Amino acid sequence: MERDTRITHAGRTPRDYKGAVNPPVYRASTVLQPHIEDFEARRGEMLYGRFGTPTTRALTNAISDLEGAAETFPCSCGLNAITATILAYAKPGGHFLVTDSAYFPVRKFCEGMLKTLGVETEYFDPRIGGEDLAKLIRPETFMVWLESPGSLTFEIQDVPALAKAAKAAGVPTALDNTWGASHFFRPIEHGVDISVLAATKYHVGHSDAMMGLIACAPDAVEPVRAAVTQLGVTAGTEEVYLCHRGLRTLSVRLERHQKNGIEVARWLEDRPEISKVLHPALESHPDHALWKRDFEGACGLFACVVKAPSKAKLVDMIDGMELFGIGASWGGYESLILTGYPEKMRTATRWEADGFLIRLHVGLEDPKDLIADLEAGLGRLR
Ligand SMILES: *Cc1c(COP(=O)(O)O)cnc(C)c1O
Repeated sequence: MERDTRITHAGRTPRDYKGAVNPPVYRASTVLQPHIEDFEARRGEMLYGRFGTPTTRALTNAISDLEGAAETFPCSCGLNAITATILAYAKPGGHFLVTDSAYFPVRKFCEGMLKTLGVETEYFDPRIGGEDLAKLIRPETFMVWLESPGSLTFEIQDVPALAKAAKAAGVPTALDNTWGASHFFRPIEHGVDISVLAATKYHVGHSDAMMGLIACAPDAVEPVRAAVTQLGVTAGTEEVYLCHRGLRTLSVRLERHQKNGIEVARWLEDRPEISKVLHPALESHPDHALWKRDFEGACGLFACVVKAPSKAKLVDMIDGMELFGIGASWGGYESLILTGYPEKMRTATRWEADGFLIRLHVGLEDPKDLIADLEAGLGRLR
């Protein structure tokens, strides 16, 4: 069936719930079994809250359908999904290859707990080709970590080539697919083993719940299952329900975020105060061709470089915004604005720009109003 039909129906079995359209919220830690032999043989459909409920399974089945995954595991947040995925493969003395454009908390984990556990992390240029990635792979390399587009800087990676090079060397790949949101990009179809999602963003879609998901190709299911089981990774039933409810409108919301985002990005591109717009759907983006080849759309998140005369003027611009809220995260229905400092994070590549980077999340407001808000904001730079 077509994507919109699957987004509407995936994971739904109303007849199991007396006809209710949505799976009910099962609140359970203890699940009673009829006989002790059932308990000992783990025969029940539900065993214990931590192992999931029908509410959980409805969501993970839907995500597996949309991501083309063999199995999906629910987590309490996106970062939890990331760290559990890495720990499924990490070993002392191991070597971890990570894109230099990775979400910053990934780096914190690598430089913190992973280092303590004896893992060496090596960062690589997000625009590396398959052959050059292959040269970085060592016998002790346990995983390649991708994120496309990159956090803050929006480089699109040549995912099929990178996944192929890693596979040829017997190394699994994982990709943070939060921007592609199980819809505009489906990593497993491009050879990636694990698609990791901060479902907090577009899947939930309403800025009111935290949720992570790990969608696995067949070979990754058992290693990831072992990690989530041993770590006790799980998600609350209310969050799971909210995520599944948000999912039903995912494609409609994403299409509008895309349209509004491109309209705002194009407007910014023509402004003299903006030196660069980092939006993969714009022809001016250096990786536009790769985006067009592999993605089916662009969400509402992008960045631009503002030629502010000083930090104080930039602060004036941002603090005075009426519609763009100042706050972490993105993927809700509302617009957001934040500063970002990739120059302080990069180690394998240098980030240079003539101005301050700001990241915008373009929401579902009328873009005319958003543009008016930005126009007034740019006026405050003078
Ligand atoms: C927000 C985000 C995460 C982390 O998700 P949380 O639910 O906040 O833990 C991971 N990756 C990317 C790209 C994100 O933007």
